[in-house]
Amino acid sequence: MIYDFLIVGGGVAGASAAFELAAHGSVLLLEAESTTGYHATGRSAALFTRNYGSPIVRQVNAASAPFFRSPPAGFCDTPLLTPRGSLTIAPPDHEGGLAELLSMSEPGEEISLIDPKDACEMVPFLRQDRVGYAAFEANVTDIDVANVHLSYLKGAKARGATVLTKQTVKALSRQSDVWSVQTAKDTFSAAQIINAAGAWADQVGAMAGAEPIGLVPMRRTAIIINAPEGVQCAALPAVDFAGTGAYMKPDAGKLMASPGDATPTDPHDAWADDMEIAVFADWIEQETTIKVEKIEHSWAGLRSFVADEAPVVGFDANVGGFFWLAGQGGFGIMMAPALAMLTAEICTQATTPNNARFAQALSPARLVQSSDPALQRSPGRII
Ligand SMILES: Cc1cc2nc3c(=O)[nH]c(=O)nc-3n(C[C@H](O)[C@H](O)[C@H](O)COP(=O)(O)OP(=O)(O)OC[C@H]3O[C@@H](n4cnc5c(N)ncnc54)[C@H](O)[C@@H]3O)c2cc1C
Repeated sequence: MIYDFLIVGGGVAGASAAFELAAHGSVLLLEAESTTGYHATGRSAALFTRNYGSPIVRQVNAASAPFFRSPPAGFCDTPLLTPRGSLTIAPPDHEGGLAELLSMSEPGEEISLIDPKDACEMVPFLRQDRVGYAAFEANVTDIDVANVHLSYLKGAKARGATVLTKQTVKALSRQSDVWSVQTAKDTFSAAQIINAAGAWADQVGAMAGAEPIGLVPMRRTAIIINAPEGVQCAALPAVDFAGTGAYMKPDAGKLMASPGDATPTDPHDAWADDMEIAVFADWIEQETTIKVEKIEHSWAGLRSFVADEAPVVGFDANVGGFFWLAGQGGFGIMMAPALAMLTAEICTQATTPNNARFAQALSPARLVQSSDPALQRSPGRII
């Protein structure tokens, strides 16, 4: 059988693309691991922050929101987004530390300065002397990532897609417009390859003979700790510590915290470094009243970026039938619906407003050179 679309990678990018593409043709998704979502998708902070990333990323986030808020009938049984809110604080000696964030405020997505005292009431473990300035963003929500990911896979299968795990793609070749895809066990044929291999996307591109897009996997650490006694975690907002990259958010009755590290690395099964965790635990004790008595759980994941920190979505300019769906960085969960729809639109040559708006801006061809300010590095908000 020659599949219309063969997707490499079963994270949220591959799963969402499988769902959208399965409405148009036969789909095979190959995942290297024994479970889908094992890498970046299973390791995120699970936040939907519309005002996050470069201008083009924020537009993609906005385009994804309607799907999350009103998914297609039968897609999932429980809501994908739940209210959270996000508080950003800056110390007293950091005047102007929130200016960049406040400049992203838009009608319907307001970010408002609040009284530092109100911030400390909202989050009782903040140290009052460390909160000089505070801003609140009401529209930030939690995303139920497992629900999103599994619903995409379930929906794709219901539309006829085949999903195979423990199938690492090892070689790609193309003859007479048909791709031959080799794994350790099997050989598959497909008209189009969708490269949704996360941190490994440049490696998969190389198998196809494509030029690299310059993807850099960046390791980010996360820990789970207990909140101080008496603090009701569920009602807390997420908390960003401006200028540091560090953030915290409630997670199933405890707190998830990250130093916001972004360490360039090779693609691999990332793990958290003990020394970095110890340094971060000490930092938490200095910046808050939390006593970090125990690290309940820790992990690291790879957020993979190209130079302009925008995703790469489109056919390779030089390798026929080879499609990039990569470079989702720190926003891959929240961008997934819009990018998957765009993928299906480009692959089926559909003309839609979404396609017209994003196709050129996200095309791999832009990585050659771009003077478009929308494609420059994200401004300020550390991600
Ligand atoms: C700590 C942390 C916090 C984050 N917080 C957020 C957040 O709050 N909100 C948000 O939107 N995003 C967040 N992100 C980013 C988000 O997790 C990623 O952008 C997203 O998961 C990327 O999805 P993906 O499908 O591209 O990659 P992955 O989930 O890594 O999937 C790629 C898959 O491809 C497979 N693969 C690779 N090579 C091959 C091969 N040769 N053959 C077969 N399969 C292969 C891999 O095994 C992997 O399963 C965070 C990330 C981290 C690490």
